[in-house]
Amino acid sequence: MRDGIRIARLFGIDVLVDWSWAFIVLLMTWNVSAVFAHWHPDWGTFGAFALGLTASLLFFLSVLLHELAHALVAISQNMGVRSIRLFLFGGVSNIEREPPSAMAELLMAAVGPAVSLGIGINLMILNWLLLPTIDPAAPFETISRLGPLQTVLLWLGPINVMVGVFNLIPGFPLDGGRILRAALWAAWGDLERATYWAASIGRGVGWGFVVLGIALFFGAHLPFFGGGPVSGLWLAFIGWFLATAAQRSYEAQRIQEALEGVTVSQLMRRDVPSVPPSTSASALVDQWFLRSGDHAYPVVDGDRFVGLVCPGDVRKIPPPEWPTTPVSSIMTPADRLATVAPNEDASSALRKLANLEVEQLPVVWNDALCGMLEHRNVARWLELRIGPPRGWRPSHAQ
Ligand SMILES: [Zn+2]
Repeated sequence: MRDGIRIARLFGIDVLVDWSWAFIVLLMTWNVSAVFAHWHPDWGTFGAFALGLTASLLFFLSVLLHELAHALVAISQNMGVRSIRLFLFGGVSNIEREPPSAMAELLMAAVGPAVSLGIGINLMILNWLLLPTIDPAAPFETISRLGPLQTVLLWLGPINVMVGVFNLIPGFPLDGGRILRAALWAAWGDLERATYWAASIGRGVGWGFVVLGIALFFGAHLPFFGGGPVSGLWLAFIGWFLATAAQRSYEAQRIQEALEGVTVSQLMRRDVPSVPPSTSASALVDQWFLRSGDHAYPVVDGDRFVGLVCPGDVRKIPPPEWPTTPVSSIMTPADRLATVAPNEDASSALRKLANLEVEQLPVVWNDALCGMLEHRNVARWLELRIGPPRGWRPSHAQ
Protein backbone atom coordinates (compact mmCIF):
# COMPACT_ATOMS: atom_id res chain seq x y z
CA MET A 1 0.00 0.00 0.00
CA ARG A 2 1.38 3.39 -1.01
CA ASP A 3 0.01 5.26 2.00
CA GLY A 4 1.56 2.96 4.60
CA ILE A 5 0.49 0.50 7.27
CA ARG A 6 -2.45 1.29 9.53
CA ILE A 7 -1.45 1.21 13.20
CA ALA A 8 -4.52 2.76 14.81
CA ARG A 9 -7.85 4.43 14.22
CA LEU A 10 -8.55 7.50 16.37
CA PHE A 11 -11.70 9.66 16.15
CA GLY A 12 -12.53 7.94 12.84
CA ILE A 13 -9.11 8.82 11.38
CA ASP A 14 -6.72 6.13 10.18
CA VAL A 15 -3.21 6.49 11.59
CA LEU A 16 -0.76 5.17 8.98
CA VAL A 17 2.99 4.70 9.13
CA ASP A 18 5.20 4.77 6.08
CA TRP A 19 8.29 2.57 5.67
CA SER A 20 10.46 5.67 5.77
CA TRP A 21 9.12 6.23 9.28
CA ALA A 22 10.75 3.01 10.56
CA PHE A 23 14.02 4.31 9.13
CA ILE A 24 13.76 7.65 10.92
CA VAL A 25 12.80 5.95 14.23
CA LEU A 26 15.96 3.82 13.97
CA LEU A 27 18.13 6.79 13.00
CA MET A 28 16.72 8.84 15.85
CA THR A 29 17.06 5.96 18.36
CA TRP A 30 20.69 5.55 17.33
CA ASN A 31 21.31 9.28 17.69
CA VAL A 32 19.53 9.67 21.02
CA SER A 33 21.12 6.48 22.43
CA ALA A 34 24.53 7.99 21.66
CA VAL A 35 23.58 11.17 23.54
CA PHE A 36 22.24 9.15 26.51
CA ALA A 37 25.31 6.88 26.54
CA HIS A 38 27.45 10.02 26.67
CA TRP A 39 25.40 11.41 29.60
CA HIS A 40 25.25 8.07 31.45
CA PRO A 41 28.33 5.92 30.78
CA ASP A 42 27.20 3.64 33.65
CA TRP A 43 23.97 2.54 31.85
CA GLY A 44 25.74 0.43 29.24
CA THR A 45 24.93 0.16 25.55
CA PHE A 46 21.68 -1.75 26.02
CA GLY A 47 20.31 0.61 28.69
CA ALA A 48 21.07 3.66 26.57
CA PHE A 49 19.52 1.99 23.52
CA ALA A 50 16.31 0.98 25.33
CA LEU A 51 15.89 4.48 26.64
CA GLY A 52 16.75 5.98 23.25
CA LEU A 53 14.02 3.88 21.64
CA THR A 54 11.52 4.94 24.33
CA ALA A 55 12.46 8.58 23.76
CA SER A 56 12.04 8.29 19.94
CA LEU A 57 8.64 6.63 20.32
CA LEU A 58 7.54 9.35 22.77
CA PHE A 59 8.76 11.91 20.25
CA PHE A 60 6.59 10.36 17.54
CA LEU A 61 3.68 10.27 19.96
CA SER A 62 4.09 14.06 20.28
CA VAL A 63 4.21 14.36 16.48
CA LEU A 64 0.99 12.33 16.34
CA LEU A 65 -0.65 14.68 18.88
CA HIS A 66 0.44 17.64 16.71
CA GLU A 67 -1.19 16.05 13.64
CA LEU A 68 -4.26 14.98 15.59
CA ALA A 69 -4.77 18.60 16.63
CA HIS A 70 -4.72 19.69 12.95
CA ALA A 71 -7.10 16.87 12.06
CA LEU A 72 -9.63 17.55 14.81
CA VAL A 73 -9.80 21.27 13.95
CA ALA A 74 -10.15 20.34 10.26
CA ILE A 75 -13.07 18.04 11.12
CA SER A 76 -14.71 20.77 13.22
CA GLN A 77 -14.43 23.08 10.18
CA ASN A 78 -16.15 20.51 7.93
CA MET A 79 -13.04 19.50 6.05
CA GLY A 80 -13.07 15.70 6.09
CA VAL A 81 -9.91 13.96 7.32
CA ARG A 82 -9.26 10.46 6.08
CA SER A 83 -5.89 9.68 7.58
CA ILE A 84 -2.78 10.85 9.36
CA ARG A 85 0.46 9.51 7.93
CA LEU A 86 3.75 9.37 9.82
CA PHE A 87 6.75 9.39 7.53
CA LEU A 88 10.37 10.48 7.19
CA PHE A 89 9.83 14.15 8.03
CA GLY A 90 7.18 13.76 10.73
CA GLY A 91 3.47 13.66 10.10
CA VAL A 92 0.95 14.81 7.54
CA SER A 93 -2.86 14.87 7.70
CA ASN A 94 -4.74 13.82 4.61
CA ILE A 95 -7.43 16.51 4.55
CA GLU A 96 -10.11 16.05 1.93
CA ARG A 97 -11.14 19.61 1.22
CA GLU A 98 -9.50 23.01 1.12
CA PRO A 99 -10.39 25.19 4.13
CA PRO A 100 -13.71 27.05 3.69
CA SER A 101 -12.31 30.37 4.97
CA ALA A 102 -9.07 32.12 5.92
CA MET A 103 -10.07 31.87 9.58
CA ALA A 104 -10.61 28.08 9.32
CA GLU A 105 -7.18 27.71 7.70
CA LEU A 106 -5.54 29.90 10.36
CA LEU A 107 -7.07 27.86 13.22
CA MET A 108 -6.22 24.53 11.62
CA ALA A 109 -2.61 25.52 10.87
CA ALA A 110 -1.86 27.24 14.17
CA VAL A 111 -3.10 24.47 16.45
CA GLY A 112 -0.32 22.02 15.44
CA PRO A 113 2.69 24.17 16.40
CA ALA A 114 0.69 25.30 19.47
CA VAL A 115 0.49 21.66 20.62
CA SER A 116 4.22 21.04 20.00
CA LEU A 117 5.23 24.25 21.75
CA GLY A 118 2.76 23.49 24.58
CA ILE A 119 4.20 20.00 25.16
CA GLY A 120 7.78 21.27 24.85
CA ILE A 121 7.45 24.31 27.10
CA ASN A 122 5.50 22.38 29.76
CA LEU A 123 8.11 19.62 29.82
CA MET A 124 10.87 22.20 30.08
CA ILE A 125 9.11 23.90 33.01
CA LEU A 126 8.59 20.50 34.64
CA ASN A 127 12.28 19.72 34.18
CA TRP A 128 13.27 23.07 35.58
CA LEU A 129 11.14 22.40 38.69
CA LEU A 130 12.34 18.79 39.14
CA LEU A 131 15.96 19.16 38.15
CA PRO A 132 18.66 19.64 40.75
CA THR A 133 20.52 22.90 40.23
CA ILE A 134 23.00 22.39 37.45
CA ASP A 135 26.52 23.39 38.34
CA PRO A 136 27.63 25.45 35.32
CA ALA A 137 31.20 24.32 35.90
CA ALA A 138 30.28 20.61 35.55
CA PRO A 139 26.85 20.26 33.88
CA PHE A 140 27.42 16.61 32.91
CA GLU A 141 27.89 15.63 36.49
CA THR A 142 24.37 16.85 37.34
CA ILE A 143 22.89 15.22 34.23
CA SER A 144 24.63 11.90 34.90
CA ARG A 145 22.86 11.74 38.27
CA LEU A 146 19.37 11.99 36.64
CA GLY A 147 17.08 8.95 36.54
CA PRO A 148 15.79 7.48 33.23
CA LEU A 149 12.47 9.39 33.22
CA GLN A 150 14.09 12.76 33.80
CA THR A 151 16.74 12.04 31.19
CA VAL A 152 14.05 11.34 28.58
CA LEU A 153 12.06 14.44 29.56
CA LEU A 154 15.21 16.55 29.40
CA TRP A 155 15.57 15.56 25.75
CA LEU A 156 11.86 15.51 24.84
CA GLY A 157 11.06 19.09 25.94
CA PRO A 158 13.50 21.03 23.75
CA ILE A 159 12.93 18.80 20.71
CA ASN A 160 9.17 19.50 20.83
CA VAL A 161 9.93 23.22 20.99
CA MET A 162 12.16 22.76 17.92
CA VAL A 163 9.36 20.96 16.05
CA GLY A 164 6.97 23.80 16.90
CA VAL A 165 9.45 26.46 15.76
CA PHE A 166 10.42 24.57 12.58
CA ASN A 167 6.77 24.23 11.58
CA LEU A 168 6.27 27.98 12.01
CA ILE A 169 8.73 28.74 9.17
CA PRO A 170 6.50 30.73 6.79
CA GLY A 171 6.86 28.48 3.72
CA PHE A 172 3.81 26.66 2.39
CA PRO A 173 2.97 23.74 2.97
CA LEU A 174 4.54 24.02 6.45
CA ASP A 175 2.11 25.23 9.15
CA GLY A 176 3.78 28.67 9.16
CA GLY A 177 3.25 28.84 5.38
CA ARG A 178 -0.42 27.98 5.87
CA ILE A 179 -0.73 30.74 8.49
CA LEU A 180 0.91 33.12 6.00
CA ARG A 181 -1.46 31.96 3.26
CA ALA A 182 -4.47 32.50 5.56
CA ALA A 183 -3.26 36.04 6.32
CA LEU A 184 -2.68 36.87 2.63
CA TRP A 185 -6.02 35.26 1.74
CA ALA A 186 -7.81 37.41 4.35
CA ALA A 187 -5.97 40.54 3.13
CA TRP A 188 -6.40 40.03 -0.63
CA GLY A 189 -9.56 37.91 -0.75
CA ASP A 190 -7.83 35.85 -3.44
CA LEU A 191 -6.93 32.27 -2.46
CA GLU A 192 -5.00 31.50 -5.63
CA ARG A 193 -2.76 34.57 -5.33
CA ALA A 194 -2.25 33.85 -1.61
CA THR A 195 -1.30 30.23 -2.38
CA TYR A 196 1.06 31.36 -5.14
CA TRP A 197 2.99 33.66 -2.79
CA ALA A 198 2.98 31.32 0.21
CA ALA A 199 4.21 28.47 -2.02
CA SER A 200 6.85 30.69 -3.68
CA ILE A 201 8.20 31.62 -0.25
CA GLY A 202 8.07 27.90 0.65
CA ARG A 203 10.20 27.10 -2.40
CA GLY A 204 12.59 29.93 -1.53
CA VAL A 205 12.98 28.64 2.04
CA GLY A 206 13.48 25.09 0.73
CA TRP A 207 16.23 26.10 -1.74
CA GLY A 208 17.77 28.29 0.99
CA PHE A 209 18.07 25.16 3.16
CA VAL A 210 19.65 23.29 0.26
CA VAL A 211 22.29 26.03 -0.13
CA LEU A 212 22.96 26.09 3.65
CA GLY A 213 23.17 22.28 3.65
CA ILE A 214 25.76 22.32 0.87
CA ALA A 215 27.73 25.01 2.74
CA LEU A 216 27.72 22.83 5.90
CA PHE A 217 28.74 19.82 3.85
CA PHE A 218 31.81 21.69 2.62
CA GLY A 219 32.87 22.71 6.11
CA ALA A 220 30.97 25.92 6.93
CA HIS A 221 29.87 26.37 10.54
CA LEU A 222 26.58 28.09 11.28
CA PRO A 223 24.94 29.12 14.54
CA PHE A 224 21.98 26.82 15.42
CA PHE A 225 22.57 24.46 12.44
CA GLY A 226 26.03 23.43 13.64
CA GLY A 227 28.27 21.89 10.99
CA GLY A 228 29.58 18.73 9.43
CA PRO A 229 28.76 16.70 6.32
CA VAL A 230 25.92 14.66 7.92
CA SER A 231 24.00 17.75 9.15
CA GLY A 232 24.70 19.34 5.77
CA LEU A 233 23.25 16.45 3.78
CA TRP A 234 20.27 16.21 6.10
CA LEU A 235 19.54 19.95 5.85
CA ALA A 236 19.87 19.88 2.05
CA PHE A 237 17.53 16.88 1.91
CA ILE A 238 14.91 18.63 4.08
CA GLY A 239 15.24 21.75 1.91
CA TRP A 240 14.77 19.77 -1.29
CA PHE A 241 11.71 18.07 0.24
CA LEU A 242 10.23 21.45 1.27
CA ALA A 243 10.80 23.02 -2.15
CA THR A 244 9.20 20.04 -3.91
CA ALA A 245 6.27 19.95 -1.49
CA ALA A 246 5.65 23.69 -2.02
CA GLN A 247 5.56 23.24 -5.79
CA ARG A 248 3.31 20.20 -5.54
CA SER A 249 0.87 21.83 -3.12
CA TYR A 250 0.59 24.81 -5.44
CA GLU A 251 -0.20 22.57 -8.41
CA ALA A 252 -2.71 20.58 -6.37
CA GLN A 253 -4.37 23.85 -5.43
CA ARG A 254 -4.63 24.95 -9.09
CA ILE A 255 -6.15 21.61 -10.06
CA GLN A 256 -8.60 21.89 -7.20
CA GLU A 257 -9.66 25.35 -8.38
CA ALA A 258 -9.91 24.32 -12.04
CA LEU A 259 -12.20 21.46 -11.03
CA GLU A 260 -14.42 23.60 -8.79
CA GLY A 261 -18.08 23.00 -9.67
CA VAL A 262 -17.24 20.35 -12.30
CA THR A 263 -18.96 16.97 -11.94
CA VAL A 264 -17.86 13.49 -12.99
CA SER A 265 -20.54 13.33 -15.73
CA GLN A 266 -18.91 16.30 -17.51
CA LEU A 267 -15.52 14.57 -17.67
CA MET A 268 -16.42 10.90 -18.07
CA ARG A 269 -16.19 8.93 -21.26
CA ARG A 270 -19.64 7.81 -22.41
CA ASP A 271 -19.05 5.51 -25.42
CA VAL A 272 -17.42 2.74 -23.37
CA PRO A 273 -17.27 -0.68 -25.05
CA SER A 274 -18.56 -3.22 -22.51
CA VAL A 275 -18.26 -7.01 -22.32
CA PRO A 276 -21.14 -9.43 -21.56
CA PRO A 277 -20.24 -11.70 -18.59
CA SER A 278 -20.61 -14.93 -20.61
CA THR A 279 -17.94 -13.90 -23.16
CA SER A 280 -15.00 -16.32 -23.18
CA ALA A 281 -11.54 -15.11 -22.27
CA SER A 282 -10.30 -15.91 -25.79
CA ALA A 283 -13.09 -13.79 -27.35
CA LEU A 284 -12.24 -11.03 -24.88
CA VAL A 285 -8.63 -11.10 -26.06
CA ASP A 286 -9.43 -11.30 -29.79
CA GLN A 287 -12.38 -8.94 -29.99
CA TRP A 288 -11.68 -6.45 -27.22
CA PHE A 289 -8.07 -6.25 -26.04
CA LEU A 290 -6.50 -6.68 -29.50
CA ARG A 291 -9.03 -4.35 -31.16
CA SER A 292 -8.60 -1.24 -29.00
CA GLY A 293 -6.08 0.34 -26.69
CA ASP A 294 -8.27 0.41 -23.57
CA HIS A 295 -6.72 -0.60 -20.24
CA ALA A 296 -9.79 -2.39 -18.94
CA TYR A 297 -13.37 -3.17 -19.96
CA PRO A 298 -16.52 -2.96 -17.84
CA VAL A 299 -18.53 -6.17 -17.69
CA VAL A 300 -22.24 -5.45 -18.11
CA ASP A 301 -25.09 -7.93 -17.72
CA GLY A 302 -28.15 -6.44 -19.46
CA ASP A 303 -28.22 -3.01 -17.81
CA ARG A 304 -26.34 -3.99 -14.69
CA PHE A 305 -22.66 -3.21 -14.15
CA VAL A 306 -21.16 -6.42 -12.71
CA GLY A 307 -17.37 -6.00 -12.86
CA LEU A 308 -14.22 -4.87 -14.59
CA VAL A 309 -11.73 -6.99 -16.52
CA CYS A 310 -8.12 -6.07 -17.31
CA PRO A 311 -5.12 -7.85 -18.93
CA GLY A 312 -3.87 -8.97 -15.49
CA ASP A 313 -7.12 -10.95 -15.00
CA VAL A 314 -6.55 -12.78 -18.30
CA ARG A 315 -2.96 -13.64 -17.35
CA LYS A 316 -4.23 -15.44 -14.23
CA ILE A 317 -5.33 -18.42 -16.38
CA PRO A 318 -3.19 -20.40 -18.85
CA PRO A 319 -3.96 -19.76 -22.58
CA PRO A 320 -5.30 -23.30 -23.27
CA GLU A 321 -8.14 -22.57 -20.81
CA TRP A 322 -9.11 -19.24 -22.44
CA PRO A 323 -11.81 -20.62 -24.79
CA THR A 324 -13.72 -22.28 -21.91
CA THR A 325 -13.34 -19.60 -19.24
CA PRO A 326 -16.09 -16.97 -19.05
CA VAL A 327 -15.16 -13.35 -18.27
CA SER A 328 -17.42 -13.48 -15.19
CA SER A 329 -15.02 -15.91 -13.49
CA ILE A 330 -11.86 -13.81 -13.97
CA MET A 331 -13.17 -10.23 -13.63
CA THR A 332 -12.98 -8.14 -10.47
CA PRO A 333 -16.62 -8.12 -9.29
CA ALA A 334 -18.39 -4.77 -8.89
CA ASP A 335 -18.68 -5.05 -5.10
CA ARG A 336 -14.89 -5.10 -4.81
CA LEU A 337 -14.35 -2.08 -7.07
CA ALA A 338 -14.20 1.60 -6.24
CA THR A 339 -16.73 3.49 -8.35
CA VAL A 340 -17.90 7.08 -8.65
CA ALA A 341 -21.36 8.57 -9.14
CA PRO A 342 -22.06 10.83 -12.15
CA ASN A 343 -23.04 13.77 -9.92
CA GLU A 344 -19.92 13.46 -7.73
CA ASP A 345 -17.40 16.33 -7.59
CA ALA A 346 -14.66 15.88 -10.17
CA SER A 347 -12.02 16.92 -7.63
CA SER A 348 -13.01 14.21 -5.15
CA ALA A 349 -13.11 11.66 -8.00
CA LEU A 350 -9.63 12.74 -9.13
CA ARG A 351 -8.38 12.25 -5.58
CA LYS A 352 -9.84 8.73 -5.66
CA LEU A 353 -8.00 8.05 -8.94
CA ALA A 354 -4.75 9.29 -7.42
CA ASN A 355 -5.14 7.62 -4.00
CA LEU A 356 -6.10 4.24 -5.48
CA GLU A 357 -3.38 4.57 -8.15
CA VAL A 358 -5.76 3.49 -10.90
CA GLU A 359 -6.19 4.66 -14.50
CA GLN A 360 -9.99 4.65 -14.51
CA LEU A 361 -13.05 4.43 -12.33
CA PRO A 362 -16.44 3.10 -13.49
CA VAL A 363 -19.19 5.72 -13.20
CA VAL A 364 -22.19 3.88 -11.75
CA TRP A 365 -25.70 5.00 -10.90
CA ASN A 366 -28.34 2.59 -9.54
CA ASP A 367 -26.17 -0.39 -10.55
CA ALA A 368 -26.11 0.82 -14.18
CA LEU A 369 -22.89 1.88 -15.93
CA CYS A 370 -23.07 5.53 -17.06
CA GLY A 371 -19.50 5.78 -18.34
CA MET A 372 -15.86 5.62 -17.30
CA LEU A 373 -13.88 8.35 -15.62
CA GLU A 374 -10.48 7.91 -17.20
CA HIS A 375 -7.31 9.50 -16.03
CA ARG A 376 -6.28 10.53 -19.54
CA ASN A 377 -9.57 12.42 -20.10
CA VAL A 378 -9.23 14.31 -16.83
CA ALA A 379 -5.57 15.03 -17.68
CA ARG A 380 -6.54 16.36 -21.11
CA TRP A 381 -9.27 18.53 -19.62
CA LEU A 382 -6.84 19.95 -17.05
CA GLU A 383 -4.24 20.50 -19.77
CA LEU A 384 -6.77 22.60 -21.69
CA ARG A 385 -7.52 24.62 -18.57
CA ILE A 386 -4.20 25.06 -16.75
CA GLY A 387 -1.43 23.48 -18.82
CA PRO A 388 0.36 20.13 -18.86
CA PRO A 389 0.24 18.03 -15.68
CA ARG A 390 3.27 17.39 -13.47
CA GLY A 391 3.73 15.06 -10.57
CA TRP A 392 0.17 14.02 -9.78
CA ARG A 393 -0.26 11.12 -12.15
CA PRO A 394 -1.25 7.70 -10.75
CA SER A 395 1.00 4.89 -11.85
CA HIS A 396 -1.01 1.65 -12.09
CA ALA A 397 -4.05 0.48 -14.02
CA GLN A 398 -7.00 -0.82 -12.02
ZN1 LIG B 1 1.68 20.80 11.57
